[in-house]
Amino acid sequence: MDLLTTLVDKGLRRELPTREEALAVLATSDDDLLDVVAAAGRVRRQWFGRRVKLNYLVNLKSGLCPEDCSYCSQRLGSTAGILKYTWLKPDEASKAAAAGLSGGAKRVCLVASGRGPTDRDVDRVSDTIKAIKEQNEGVEVCACLGLLSDGQADRLREAGADAYNHNLNTSEATYGDITTTHTYADRVDTVQKAHAAGLSACSGLIAGMGESDEDLVDVVFSLRELDPDSVPVNFLIPFEGTPLAKEWNLTPQRCLRILAMVRFVCPDVEVRIAGGREVHLRTMQPLALHLANSIFLGDYLTSEGQAGRADLEMIADAGFEVEGTGQVTLPEHRTAGGGCGSHEGGSGCGSHEGGSSCGSHGSDGGRGSHGVCGSAPAATAQDARTDLVAVRRRGAGTDLAPNA
Ligand code: SF4
Repeated sequence: MDLLTTLVDKGLRRELPTREEALAVLATSDDDLLDVVAAAGRVRRQWFGRRVKLNYLVNLKSGLCPEDCSYCSQRLGSTAGILKYTWLKPDEASKAAAAGLSGGAKRVCLVASGRGPTDRDVDRVSDTIKAIKEQNEGVEVCACLGLLSDGQADRLREAGADAYNHNLNTSEATYGDITTTHTYADRVDTVQKAHAAGLSACSGLIAGMGESDEDLVDVVFSLRELDPDSVPVNFLIPFEGTPLAKEWNLTPQRCLRILAMVRFVCPDVEVRIAGGREVHLRTMQPLALHLANSIFLGDYLTSEGQAGRADLEMIADAGFEVEGTGQVTLPEHRTAGGGCGSHEGGSGCGSHEGGSSCGSHGSDGGRGSHGVCGSAPAATAQDARTDLVAVRRRGAGTDLAPNA
């Protein structure tokens, strides 16, 4: 296909595709799917080889959020039967993090529900970051605490945070349809604050909320403009008890096309498959490793993932390798100046990137959306796979061992 030849050439040169080309990727047929994966896979291998970065989520504070993000099981009014607990103590969080790191993760993503942290909350998280860093040499830590006020990103950076995650989630035009308690501009502002403080910015999206192809392309082009080091791609987990519970719009094939489009638009950025990987890609997960270079190990914030061992086996069986702590994630041109992200040097996280998964903290998958946009995707309605959605009952906030 001329389209794919053009997109590979542009991806290898880090040149931005046109909107029409990005839309055309989403419009390809199932007959062309393997060609699309192979083409985007060439771009992925150019910048990230066959490495897969493992990230590990620790939900520091779960549920009881006053915000109304429609996709989120922790939102105001959610009746999803998730774990609800207040701030983990630094030693509790550190213990959970250690499980993920011993399972092969190189980054820990510390996430808390809520609109944004108070200064006291930043102190708590700073203590947790220090505890984790003291006990785990070379670990990367990303914080995902919601909207930041002036000065908070600097304080997190001073405490040792490498990255900050805050997702745009969807296009600016449809943002108001999924959340009314804060704005798209608020989200952009927080990503910019993280960047300005020298944190590696991580910002991504949630697919499957009823958005159109144009919305998906809009948000991915906006992300390219913001230039985060990592882009988590969440696939909405339609939690019972949230407004988007009926939004089962995704097929494994559509998820692969979305990941391929993100790779073509953001060729040299860490693209992470975040929430919803098991629920929506299902047995097609290994193909997605040809597109994304990063996943979460084990469980998500409020839902359970497949066993950590299964993640590792999948990576090995598909011919990929887990990225070690000594390897830099991002290509050299993005890390000039040093280690993580690029600010300062260090052990190289490869780049400031972020956690994801949290993305919108809450987005164990994403939000959903009912008719977020009038032009609802042609996506063939998928059978609701509620059988694949398991609320997390182990790890942080429980007495049971984490999945890692
Ligand atoms: S995504 Fe974050 S801010 Fe929105 S409802 Fe969920 S926890 Fe609250």
